[in-house]
Amino acid sequence: MLDDTKQALVQVRGLKMHFPIHAGLLQRRVGEVKAVDGVSFDVFEGETLGLVGESGCGKSTCGRAVLRLYEATAGSVTIDGVDISTLSPKDLRKTRPTMQMVFQDPQASLNPRMPVRDIIQEPLDEHTSLSTAEKREKVLELMDAVGLNRKFATRFPHAFSGGQRQRIGIARALALNPKFIVCDEPIAALDVSIQAQVVNLLEDLQQRLGLTYLFISHDLSMVRHIATRVAVMYLGRIVELAPREALYAKPLHPYTQALLSAVPEPDPDLAKSARVVLTGDVPSPSNPPKGCNFCTRCPQVMDICHEKDPEQQEVEPGRFVACHLFSQTTKTAGSTAEPRPQEHNQQGEKT
Ligand code: SF4
Repeated sequence: MLDDTKQALVQVRGLKMHFPIHAGLLQRRVGEVKAVDGVSFDVFEGETLGLVGESGCGKSTCGRAVLRLYEATAGSVTIDGVDISTLSPKDLRKTRPTMQMVFQDPQASLNPRMPVRDIIQEPLDEHTSLSTAEKREKVLELMDAVGLNRKFATRFPHAFSGGQRQRIGIARALALNPKFIVCDEPIAALDVSIQAQVVNLLEDLQQRLGLTYLFISHDLSMVRHIATRVAVMYLGRIVELAPREALYAKPLHPYTQALLSAVPEPDPDLAKSARVVLTGDVPSPSNPPKGCNFCTRCPQVMDICHEKDPEQQEVEPGRFVACHLFSQTTKTAGSTAEPRPQEHNQQGEKT
């Protein structure tokens, strides 16, 4: 469970990221893709919040919108007490050192024409007034911190392996001593044998530097290893948010149950009996279904699900589910968690 004494470093409230769809000769706006559609969560100081879901569920867009790499359609993001959603470009630039991102594809995120030394030094050039000698020394220290050989500082990215390139990306993200890092599928492009090394490095850096992570991944096994709490996303919304142990031991939302049942189980008999196979495709985020957005695929769908959007309920301390099975009026006998009066919202505020 999460330590109650921890403070929320990041507060996301009602975040929406809708992309317009234009069509016709005049390129009129004919609709919008609701990639992120009203997401709220906190990330506590020193923790790793895992954000999981299928490809296309909006988790990477959410991560970028949190750092304001995208201008959100609605909602607010407060990082270390500063509401970054309302900052001017000039003030936003001043807060950039606090928040950084590690990208999925290290090959694509590193300039192939710059030596590693210059890539890592770039944020220092942009945001600090250090002398050239001080910057060079800082770059070497960063290379040490992420396990890169100092002798390779003048080499270009193509001379490194995938895992080493991701270490370069991490060193660059650390250059300005950030507090909060969004790790967007940081191991997805790496060989399996290298993935554990990079995750161990991220954990080690978190311990040493007191970092806070939003760890975006579709790899549920890796999230189970690294995350303190886990948020499950489906079609632009968070359907369940819970401490890691509770979520993996007993997923409550039907989508979380299906997602976790797809994780390979060493015991074939157990895997066969526990597997929840979803039918149908994920609906288009430009035209989500009415009511619960999972109602077209949910094995436990009820009439109300087609009519009413389920609200987040705190069903156990620190555990939130958006599903009518857990609401006061529609809870069925099959639900295992007892519903509680809605005393707090997902962020711990009284409602
Ligand atoms: Fe399934 Fe209804 Fe719960 Fe949605 S609200 S997950 S459709 S039971």
